[in-house]
Amino acid sequence: MTHDTTATPGTGDQRAGLACAACGADLRAAQDAVVTGGTPAAQLLACPGPCAELLTGDPQGLPQAPTPLAIRIGRHEGWSW
Ligand SMILES: [Zn+2]
Repeated sequence: MTHDTTATPGTGDQRAGLACAACGADLRAAQDAVVTGGTPAAQLLACPGPCAELLTGDPQGLPQAPTPLAIRIGRHEGWSW
């Protein structure tokens, strides 16, 4: 399998915690992201504020530390989808 960069906006990046799960903003460039769901190995992240509030009811998201960006990118790059 090769990377499909033409996939429906969001799904891949969102599942990898690299895009906001609510608005789809690219979180690679964002210093702030909060956990809104998923699993420890595949967190769903979102922008702090309205996006997080939409998903979790709390603008700061869930009380979990987001996986470091570099690790999220590494996992994503290593995925075959
Ligand atoms: Zn957002």
